[in-house]
Amino acid sequence: MSTYGIDLGTTYSCIARLDSNGNPEVIRNNEDDSNTVASVVFFENESNVIVGQAAKENVETDGDRVVQFVKREIGKREARTYEFDGKTYTPVEISALILTRLKNLVEDQGGTIEDVVITVPAYFGLEERSATKQAGELAGLHVLSLINEPTAAALSYCARQFQEDRTILVYDLGGGTFDVTVLKMSMTQNNSGRDVQKITVLATDGDDRLGGKDWDDKLYNHILRACCDDNGLTPEEVEAETRQDIRSKVEEAKRKLSKKQTAKVRIDVNGSRTEIAIKRADFEQMTSDLVARTMNFVDATLEKVPAEAIDTVLLVGGSTYMPMIINAVEEKFPGKVQQHDPDQAVAKGAAIYASMLVEEVDSLSAQGEETSGDAPHAEQLTSKFTVEDQTPRSFGPGVVDMNGAKHKYVLENFIKIGEKMPAVFTKTYYPLEDNQELVRLRAFENISTDDTLIPSVDEDGNPQATDPAHKVKLLGELIVNLPPNTSRDTPIKVTFKVDASGVHVEAVNTKTDETFETFLRTESDIDVERSAVHQLRISSD
Ligand code: ADP
Ligand code: MG
Repeated sequence: MSTYGIDLGTTYSCIARLDSNGNPEVIRNNEDDSNTVASVVFFENESNVIVGQAAKENVETDGDRVVQFVKREIGKREARTYEFDGKTYTPVEISALILTRLKNLVEDQGGTIEDVVITVPAYFGLEERSATKQAGELAGLHVLSLINEPTAAALSYCARQFQEDRTILVYDLGGGTFDVTVLKMSMTQNNSGRDVQKITVLATDGDDRLGGKDWDDKLYNHILRACCDDNGLTPEEVEAETRQDIRSKVEEAKRKLSKKQTAKVRIDVNGSRTEIAIKRADFEQMTSDLVARTMNFVDATLEKVPAEAIDTVLLVGGSTYMPMIINAVEEKFPGKVQQHDPDQAVAKGAAIYASMLVEEVDSLSAQGEETSGDAPHAEQLTSKFTVEDQTPRSFGPGVVDMNGAKHKYVLENFIKIGEKMPAVFTKTYYPLEDNQELVRLRAFENISTDDTLIPSVDEDGNPQATDPAHKVKLLGELIVNLPPNTSRDTPIKVTFKVDASGVHVEAVNTKTDETFETFLRTESDIDVERSAVHQLRISSD
């Protein structure tokens, strides 16, 4: 089987396939004696680029030649680039290096790799998705599809414990990100009339700056302080080598504390050896605020989907090995918490999905041929599921709401997160004023499932620096020119269409039948004089 699932993670990546019995298995990273590969790239010199644990070990000493957390940059509008030995690398190219390392794991063990499914966070917008796909292609992989990480985790869980309709909350705490997603599994019929389980995203939220690294940082500071106390030093007097020594031992100590009540680390403090013992209880106390932050996101999600509706809570991500996380989630959802290989579940689910897709193609080409009695287990497993291509975010225009005493600028969510793609929605609006010369129709994406949003955008419709609650992002602007003497009662029909290739916006002046579809995407294109007058209004008549 040459079909694989890849979890391209912020801090660790993982690759899996189905074994001959149809059960998902991870390809071992023998070099690092691990199931995962650190998503870290070290540009040692012109001819040597290292990916994985060996790259990670250079973070403190050679930090300016190391790239990590590149997933946070991929597909960003103003993506940064990296420069080494006169060559410039984009986030897509760095990600391709990590994917190449995963591909090599397979090939080094005598396997061949062709078709892959790569996972992405549920909150990834369309640009991040297409950049991820590009990275796969650049690594010489044929990307069958992408799949949302929580959906993949749910697939790998349901493959072992199949049950009809149910609602699953996926709590994914990785190395650098925290995501909470609610999924609904429900029975439906596929194209050939077979009963299959459909997976739909109901809500998703999280923080792309909250993860295991924050626990590492707390532990680092704790050990540094202890080293100072034991040696009568101030933090400023601690040498760089000592800091590096602490840094390189922190993650291991954290992992030990997931298993044991105490972890001991030996640090060379300015030449003299110091042993520090850390108690799990102390570690839990110093990081309790971080646990609380993740639970705040869970609570916010429970405002959209009530806790009683959740049947199962799945713990995903390496950081959920920490007992403090298991306990906090268990306390909120007694008896509902499940955890199975949290650092591999996403890759395994992607492998299941990849073979589902290949199987679909095979069964189409078999044109209704009877399957033999001894069909592999994989087929029985995967034919139980269907994953719809769903909109990763909500989309809609910014318009003026004339109802009430004060005009409000609102976002109307035409298409909501989790809708089946392609998704299309049309609505008629009107110019704000008589004789208006043009409309700057702005399109937004966000993670709210509300019909309308009064977001933190200024009166010209520019999203403010951040909108943490709804992650509102301006996608671009459509200029609709209006002929002279256009009355404010002229209906302008606005259509949004979202498919895997992106968002398409169209406006039709129904008086003249003129159609506008040139959507300006980049900030510099739309950075012209803005005016609140250039808006459309929701009819208030
Ligand atoms: P990603 O963030 O890339 O999705 P993972 O889900 O593999 O990656 O999570 C990586 C994080 O999990 C790292 O911060 C790592 O230190 C942490 N981690 C892995 N194993 C353990 C463990 N046994 N105890 C505590 N933390 C762990
Ligand atoms: Mg992950």
